[in-house]
Amino acid sequence: MSKNIAAEVTSLKNITKIDKFIFFAVIFLAIFWQLGGNAILLAADDSVARAVVITLKGKEYARYNLNDIKNEKIVAINSDIGYNVVKLTKNGAQVIHASCADQVDVHQGEITKPHSAIVCLPNQLVITIEGKSEADTIAY
Ligand SMILES: [Zn+2]
Repeated sequence: MSKNIAAEVTSLKNITKIDKFIFFAVIFLAIFWQLGGNAILLAADDSVARAVVITLKGKEYARYNLNDIKNEKIVAINSDIGYNVVKLTKNGAQVIHASCADQVDVHQGEITKPHSAIVCLPNQLVITIEGKSEADTIAY
């Protein structure tokens, strides 16, 4: 075996190594691109304004952007059926007083997650949080 052949064999091995490197690099890039895409979606999700929507007797009564609320905002909802007092913070919404007999809405406490809701059946009041949840972004 001459030195030249040996050198050629070595360079062939190197090419194979580089091929493998490129092969794996492409796979890793694909994986990172996928992860990066998700990370961008999640980051965008954070910037999506979450809103609290108050529905009275099946009609939208009020809508508040939670990102606009500084400390807290108290909203009183009066109708011929009764009243509910809702406390809004940048984190979510909570019914703090209600005229209903069951007080289910008051006992439920604060809701903070998108698609969660407080329902006061006697007063026909529904409070929901709008916005994309993490489940929405991860699920394809
Ligand atoms: Zn109630």
